[in-house]
Amino acid sequence: MVAAVASFLDARQNRGVWHLRIDDIDPPRQVNGSAEGILSTLIQHGLQWDGPVAYQSHSAPAYEQALQQLEDDGWLFRCLCTRTHLNALGACGQNCQETLVDREAPHSLRVRVQVDNMCGFEDGFLGFQPVVKNEIPVDFIVRRRDGLFAYQLAAAIDDAIPRHTHVVRGADLLKSTHRQRWLHHILGLTSPHYSHVPVIYDENGNKLSKQTGAKAVSASIPANTLRRCLQHLSQSDPPSSAVTPSEVLDHALDCWTGTRSTLPVT
Ligand SMILES: [Zn+2]
Repeated sequence: MVAAVASFLDARQNRGVWHLRIDDIDPPRQVNGSAEGILSTLIQHGLQWDGPVAYQSHSAPAYEQALQQLEDDGWLFRCLCTRTHLNALGACGQNCQETLVDREAPHSLRVRVQVDNMCGFEDGFLGFQPVVKNEIPVDFIVRRRDGLFAYQLAAAIDDAIPRHTHVVRGADLLKSTHRQRWLHHILGLTSPHYSHVPVIYDENGNKLSKQTGAKAVSASIPANTLRRCLQHLSQSDPPSSAVTPSEVLDHALDCWTGTRSTLPVT
């Protein structure tokens, strides 16, 4: 929810268009009705997106095409490793790229990473984010053992659609950004400008996301949830006269400080 509020305000203040994307490429983990829950939660909070909602499940041809390009350019290898074989950073732990892997055997597809050729980036909220070599795996999954597209691939392709100039999301995804920028680099795509905001965790340590937020906010007043998000984003408190979500958002829009590098990463 914090990322939704931040990206909404950033887009509106810059007179941009606020696109909404539903990441629904993982059917086994998907809860029925979760997409509808996200949309209704956003509307409840006055966060009206522009244009049609994009669903990742509709983008399979673009992901297939990217995988084919990576395969043609020699960036992919088949990996037989299960979770127990992986190294500490989640990279292939059995040197599968040197092994002739039976195409019929269950395998994932991994992309090679050349850490020395990666570049840091200027984060809109957190400032410059360097590449920390020992935190970057030497390869990562782009297609899972179960045949599904990996999040890293899908997000990278969707983020690089030319009309997407700025991506605002939770700081829990900060480490993924280097991998997704690597995919842009080797696919010849232009990376958008990334900004990461601190995420809120509930008392059980779970991220208060659009999904979990849908349940959490149904019993509360949306304007209060917005106030909490603004506080978390180090924005000034709306006056007590702002009661409805749109009144709170109008105030937030007037005061939105946009890029800042002082937010804590939580
Ligand atoms: Zn492996």
